[in-house]
Amino acid sequence: MYKLASRQPGQRSVVNVGGAAFGDGSFHMIAGPCSIESRAQIERTAQFVAGAGAVALRGGAFKPRTSPYAFQGLGEEGVRLISAAGKIAGIPTVVEALSEAQLPLLAPTVDVIQIGARNMQNFTLLQAAARTGKPVLLKRSASATLDEVLYAAEYILVEGNPDVILCERGIRGFDSNTRNVFDLAGALRLKEMTHLPVIADPSHATGRASLIEPLVLAAAVAGLDGAIIEVHPEPTSALSDGEQAMDFPAFERLMRRLAALGRPATPNVPLVACR
Ligand code: PEP
Ligand code: MN
Repeated sequence: MYKLASRQPGQRSVVNVGGAAFGDGSFHMIAGPCSIESRAQIERTAQFVAGAGAVALRGGAFKPRTSPYAFQGLGEEGVRLISAAGKIAGIPTVVEALSEAQLPLLAPTVDVIQIGARNMQNFTLLQAAARTGKPVLLKRSASATLDEVLYAAEYILVEGNPDVILCERGIRGFDSNTRNVFDLAGALRLKEMTHLPVIADPSHATGRASLIEPLVLAAAVAGLDGAIIEVHPEPTSALSDGEQAMDFPAFERLMRRLAALGRPATPNVPLVACR
Protein backbone atom coordinates (compact mmCIF):
# COMPACT_ATOMS: atom_id res chain seq x y z
CA MET A 1 0.00 0.00 0.00
CA TYR A 2 0.92 3.66 -0.13
CA LYS A 3 1.71 3.76 3.55
CA LEU A 4 3.23 7.24 3.60
CA ALA A 5 0.50 8.87 1.48
CA SER A 6 -2.48 7.31 3.22
CA ARG A 7 -4.30 9.17 5.93
CA GLN A 8 -4.68 8.28 9.57
CA PRO A 9 -7.88 9.57 11.21
CA GLY A 10 -7.66 13.32 11.67
CA GLN A 11 -4.31 13.60 9.87
CA ARG A 12 -3.68 16.54 7.51
CA SER A 13 -0.37 17.68 6.04
CA VAL A 14 0.48 21.25 5.25
CA VAL A 15 2.77 22.18 2.34
CA ASN A 16 4.24 25.65 2.52
CA VAL A 17 4.68 27.62 -0.69
CA GLY A 18 6.07 31.05 0.11
CA GLY A 19 3.81 32.23 2.90
CA ALA A 20 0.86 30.04 1.91
CA ALA A 21 0.10 26.83 3.77
CA PHE A 22 -1.68 24.40 1.43
CA GLY A 23 -3.71 22.01 3.56
CA ASP A 24 -4.30 24.30 6.54
CA GLY A 25 -8.00 24.62 5.78
CA SER A 26 -7.77 27.74 3.65
CA PHE A 27 -8.09 27.94 -0.13
CA HIS A 28 -5.12 29.15 -2.15
CA MET A 29 -4.96 30.27 -5.78
CA ILE A 30 -2.07 29.61 -8.16
CA ALA A 31 -2.44 31.55 -11.40
CA GLY A 32 -0.52 32.40 -14.54
CA PRO A 33 -0.18 31.59 -18.21
CA CYS A 34 0.00 28.12 -19.69
CA SER A 35 3.33 29.10 -21.29
CA ILE A 36 5.82 31.81 -20.48
CA GLU A 37 5.93 33.78 -23.74
CA SER A 38 7.88 37.00 -23.13
CA ARG A 39 9.27 39.16 -20.35
CA ALA A 40 6.36 41.62 -20.65
CA GLN A 41 3.73 38.85 -20.60
CA ILE A 42 5.04 37.10 -17.50
CA GLU A 43 5.89 40.29 -15.60
CA ARG A 44 2.46 41.82 -16.22
CA THR A 45 0.78 38.59 -15.18
CA ALA A 46 2.93 38.20 -12.06
CA GLN A 47 2.11 41.72 -10.89
CA PHE A 48 -1.56 41.32 -11.60
CA VAL A 49 -2.20 37.93 -10.03
CA ALA A 50 -0.06 38.75 -6.99
CA GLY A 51 -1.96 42.01 -6.51
CA ALA A 52 -5.29 40.19 -6.78
CA GLY A 53 -4.37 37.66 -4.10
CA ALA A 54 -2.83 34.63 -5.85
CA VAL A 55 -0.24 32.91 -3.65
CA ALA A 56 1.89 31.56 -6.51
CA LEU A 57 2.60 32.26 -10.18
CA ARG A 58 2.42 29.39 -12.66
CA GLY A 59 4.02 29.32 -16.10
CA GLY A 60 5.35 26.60 -18.38
CA ALA A 61 8.84 26.81 -19.83
CA PHE A 62 8.97 23.23 -21.16
CA LYS A 63 5.59 22.36 -22.62
CA PRO A 64 4.24 18.83 -23.08
CA ARG A 65 2.42 19.49 -26.37
CA THR A 66 0.43 16.79 -28.11
CA SER A 67 1.94 17.82 -31.44
CA PRO A 68 5.70 18.23 -31.88
CA TYR A 69 4.94 21.17 -34.21
CA ALA A 70 3.12 23.17 -31.51
CA PHE A 71 4.91 25.83 -29.41
CA GLN A 72 7.22 23.95 -27.07
CA GLY A 73 7.93 26.77 -24.60
CA LEU A 74 10.89 29.11 -24.18
CA GLY A 75 12.94 26.56 -22.25
CA GLU A 76 15.77 27.94 -20.11
CA GLU A 77 14.98 31.50 -21.09
CA GLY A 78 11.42 30.98 -19.83
CA VAL A 79 12.69 29.75 -16.47
CA ARG A 80 14.84 32.87 -16.12
CA LEU A 81 11.92 35.12 -17.08
CA ILE A 82 9.42 33.63 -14.62
CA SER A 83 11.96 33.59 -11.83
CA ALA A 84 12.70 37.29 -12.35
CA ALA A 85 8.99 38.13 -12.66
CA GLY A 86 8.21 36.28 -9.45
CA LYS A 87 10.94 38.11 -7.58
CA ILE A 88 9.79 41.52 -8.79
CA ALA A 89 6.17 40.79 -7.85
CA GLY A 90 7.11 39.02 -4.60
CA ILE A 91 5.32 35.79 -5.51
CA PRO A 92 6.66 32.20 -5.59
CA THR A 93 6.77 30.32 -8.90
CA VAL A 94 5.52 26.95 -10.16
CA VAL A 95 7.15 25.44 -13.28
CA GLU A 96 6.75 22.00 -14.84
CA ALA A 97 9.69 19.63 -15.27
CA LEU A 98 9.29 17.44 -18.32
CA SER A 99 12.47 15.49 -17.72
CA GLU A 100 15.18 14.88 -15.16
CA ALA A 101 17.61 16.85 -17.30
CA GLN A 102 15.69 20.05 -16.45
CA LEU A 103 15.89 19.64 -12.68
CA PRO A 104 19.38 21.13 -12.15
CA LEU A 105 18.06 24.33 -13.76
CA LEU A 106 14.64 24.33 -12.09
CA ALA A 107 15.50 23.28 -8.54
CA PRO A 108 17.55 26.33 -7.55
CA THR A 109 15.42 28.76 -9.57
CA VAL A 110 11.72 28.02 -8.99
CA ASP A 111 9.71 27.41 -5.81
CA VAL A 112 7.55 24.43 -6.80
CA ILE A 113 8.26 21.72 -9.36
CA GLN A 114 5.19 20.64 -11.30
CA ILE A 115 4.95 17.10 -12.61
CA GLY A 116 2.39 17.11 -15.40
CA ALA A 117 -0.38 14.66 -16.11
CA ARG A 118 1.60 12.93 -18.85
CA ASN A 119 4.47 12.25 -16.47
CA MET A 120 2.50 11.17 -13.41
CA GLN A 121 3.90 7.66 -13.67
CA ASN A 122 7.38 8.62 -14.87
CA PHE A 123 8.82 7.09 -11.74
CA THR A 124 12.44 8.07 -12.27
CA LEU A 125 11.34 11.69 -12.80
CA LEU A 126 9.26 11.52 -9.60
CA GLN A 127 12.25 10.24 -7.65
CA ALA A 128 14.59 12.85 -9.08
CA ALA A 129 12.10 15.67 -8.46
CA ALA A 130 11.66 14.44 -4.88
CA ARG A 131 15.41 14.52 -4.30
CA THR A 132 15.58 18.22 -5.16
CA GLY A 133 13.84 18.82 -1.83
CA LYS A 134 11.44 21.27 -3.49
CA PRO A 135 7.66 21.02 -3.06
CA VAL A 136 6.19 18.94 -5.89
CA LEU A 137 2.82 19.67 -7.51
CA LEU A 138 1.75 16.28 -8.84
CA LYS A 139 -1.03 16.32 -11.43
CA ARG A 140 -3.32 13.37 -11.91
CA SER A 141 -2.95 11.65 -15.26
CA ALA A 142 -6.07 11.84 -17.46
CA SER A 143 -6.47 8.10 -17.06
CA ALA A 144 -5.15 7.44 -13.57
CA THR A 145 -7.13 5.82 -10.81
CA LEU A 146 -6.90 7.38 -7.38
CA ASP A 147 -4.78 4.44 -6.22
CA GLU A 148 -2.33 5.17 -9.03
CA VAL A 149 -2.20 8.86 -8.02
CA LEU A 150 -1.34 7.88 -4.46
CA TYR A 151 1.29 5.36 -5.52
CA ALA A 152 2.87 8.12 -7.63
CA ALA A 153 2.84 10.43 -4.58
CA GLU A 154 4.37 7.61 -2.57
CA TYR A 155 7.40 7.58 -4.91
CA ILE A 156 8.07 11.18 -3.84
CA LEU A 157 7.37 10.69 -0.14
CA VAL A 158 9.53 7.60 0.14
CA GLU A 159 12.51 9.65 -1.07
CA GLY A 160 12.12 11.74 2.08
CA ASN A 161 10.32 14.70 0.52
CA PRO A 162 7.04 15.31 2.40
CA ASP A 163 5.97 18.33 0.34
CA VAL A 164 3.52 16.96 -2.21
CA ILE A 165 0.40 18.76 -3.43
CA LEU A 166 -1.97 16.67 -5.55
CA CYS A 167 -3.95 18.16 -8.42
CA GLU A 168 -7.15 17.00 -10.12
CA ARG A 169 -6.95 18.28 -13.70
CA GLY A 170 -9.70 16.31 -15.39
CA ILE A 171 -9.89 12.76 -16.65
CA ARG A 172 -10.62 11.59 -20.15
CA GLY A 173 -14.29 11.38 -21.08
CA PHE A 174 -16.24 10.86 -24.30
CA ASP A 175 -17.59 14.38 -24.91
CA SER A 176 -15.30 16.97 -26.45
CA ASN A 177 -17.53 19.84 -25.30
CA THR A 178 -15.34 19.85 -22.24
CA ARG A 179 -11.67 19.01 -22.74
CA ASN A 180 -11.75 16.51 -19.88
CA VAL A 181 -14.14 15.56 -17.09
CA PHE A 182 -13.54 17.47 -13.85
CA ASP A 183 -13.66 14.76 -11.21
CA LEU A 184 -14.62 16.72 -8.11
CA ALA A 185 -15.87 13.59 -6.37
CA GLY A 186 -12.55 11.91 -7.09
CA ALA A 187 -10.66 14.87 -5.65
CA LEU A 188 -12.79 14.77 -2.50
CA ARG A 189 -12.37 11.02 -2.24
CA LEU A 190 -8.58 11.61 -2.49
CA LYS A 191 -8.84 13.87 0.55
CA GLU A 192 -10.49 11.03 2.44
CA MET A 193 -7.69 8.66 1.41
CA THR A 194 -4.66 10.90 1.94
CA HIS A 195 -3.41 13.58 4.32
CA LEU A 196 -1.83 15.46 1.39
CA PRO A 197 -3.41 18.70 0.13
CA VAL A 198 -5.48 18.41 -3.04
CA ILE A 199 -6.14 21.25 -5.46
CA ALA A 200 -8.18 21.62 -8.68
CA ASP A 201 -7.17 22.69 -12.19
CA PRO A 202 -10.40 23.72 -13.93
CA SER A 203 -8.51 25.19 -16.91
CA HIS A 204 -7.21 21.82 -18.11
CA ALA A 205 -10.26 19.98 -16.79
CA THR A 206 -12.68 21.93 -18.96
CA GLY A 207 -10.71 23.69 -21.70
CA ARG A 208 -13.05 26.67 -21.32
CA ALA A 209 -12.41 29.98 -19.60
CA SER A 210 -16.14 30.40 -18.93
CA LEU A 211 -16.16 27.35 -16.64
CA ILE A 212 -13.18 28.28 -14.49
CA GLU A 213 -14.94 30.57 -12.04
CA PRO A 214 -17.86 28.28 -11.17
CA LEU A 215 -15.57 25.28 -10.74
CA VAL A 216 -13.08 27.17 -8.56
CA LEU A 217 -15.98 28.28 -6.37
CA ALA A 218 -17.29 24.70 -6.27
CA ALA A 219 -13.85 23.40 -5.29
CA ALA A 220 -13.60 26.00 -2.54
CA VAL A 221 -17.02 25.26 -1.11
CA ALA A 222 -16.46 21.51 -1.34
CA GLY A 223 -13.29 21.77 0.74
CA LEU A 224 -10.34 21.35 -1.63
CA ASP A 225 -7.17 23.18 -0.67
CA GLY A 226 -6.85 25.48 -3.67
CA ALA A 227 -6.83 25.78 -7.43
CA ILE A 228 -4.33 26.34 -10.21
CA ILE A 229 -5.71 28.20 -13.19
CA GLU A 230 -4.48 29.75 -16.41
CA VAL A 231 -4.53 33.54 -16.59
CA HIS A 232 -3.17 35.52 -19.54
CA PRO A 233 -3.08 39.26 -20.29
CA GLU A 234 -4.52 38.58 -23.78
CA PRO A 235 -5.96 35.07 -23.94
CA THR A 236 -6.88 35.35 -27.62
CA SER A 237 -3.22 35.76 -28.59
CA ALA A 238 -1.80 33.12 -26.19
CA LEU A 239 0.66 30.67 -27.75
CA SER A 240 -0.95 27.75 -25.89
CA ASP A 241 -4.27 27.06 -24.14
CA GLY A 242 -5.69 30.56 -24.68
CA GLU A 243 -9.27 29.25 -24.77
CA GLN A 244 -8.94 28.05 -21.16
CA ALA A 245 -7.23 31.16 -19.78
CA MET A 246 -8.97 33.92 -17.85
CA ASP A 247 -8.19 37.54 -18.65
CA PHE A 248 -7.31 39.94 -15.83
CA PRO A 249 -10.80 41.32 -15.16
CA ALA A 250 -12.24 37.80 -14.94
CA PHE A 251 -9.51 36.78 -12.50
CA GLU A 252 -10.15 39.81 -10.33
CA ARG A 253 -13.88 39.04 -10.24
CA LEU A 254 -13.17 35.43 -9.30
CA MET A 255 -10.92 36.52 -6.43
CA ARG A 256 -13.62 38.87 -5.14
CA ARG A 257 -16.20 36.08 -5.24
CA LEU A 258 -13.84 33.67 -3.49
CA ALA A 259 -13.23 36.22 -0.76
CA ALA A 260 -16.98 36.64 -0.37
CA LEU A 261 -17.20 32.90 0.37
CA GLY A 262 -14.86 33.32 3.30
CA ARG A 263 -12.06 31.55 1.45
CA PRO A 264 -9.13 32.08 0.95
CA ALA A 265 -7.24 33.34 3.97
CA THR A 266 -9.52 31.87 6.57
CA PRO A 267 -7.69 28.84 7.95
CA ASN A 268 -9.50 25.85 9.38
CA VAL A 269 -12.93 26.52 7.97
CA PRO A 270 -14.60 23.12 8.44
CA LEU A 271 -16.21 22.78 5.03
CA VAL A 272 -15.43 19.18 4.18
CA ALA A 273 -16.88 16.27 6.05
CA CYS A 274 -13.63 14.33 6.09
CA ARG A 275 -11.60 16.94 7.96
C1 PEP B 1 -0.15 22.61 -17.70
O1 PEP B 1 -0.31 22.78 -16.49
O2 PEP B 1 0.06 23.54 -18.51
C2 PEP B 1 -0.28 21.23 -18.23
C3 PEP B 1 0.30 20.88 -19.36
O3 PEP B 1 -1.09 20.49 -17.48
P1 PEP B 1 -1.43 18.92 -17.54
O4 PEP B 1 -0.13 18.22 -17.26
O5 PEP B 1 -2.42 18.75 -16.43
O6 PEP B 1 -1.99 18.62 -18.89
MN1 MN C 1 -1.89 24.57 -20.28
